[in-house]
Amino acid sequence: MAKAPFKRVYSCTIKKRFKTKNAAKNHAAKYETPTWPYRCEFCGGWHLTKKKPERPKK
Ligand SMILES: [Zn+2]
Repeated sequence: MAKAPFKRVYSCTIKKRFKTKNAAKNHAAKYETPTWPYRCEFCGGWHLTKKKPERPKK
């Protein structure tokens, strides 16, 4: 197997995928561990991450 150029592609395939941000949020609400939905640029869907996304400062 060739080396994966992007680790995020791999995590994309094993992660749960949601069609919308709200679906991801609803799912995240069921867990005690806080997770944040983020849009995946590879599959176009939404995944959940345990890492809190950084808010860009303006
Ligand atoms: Zn994805």
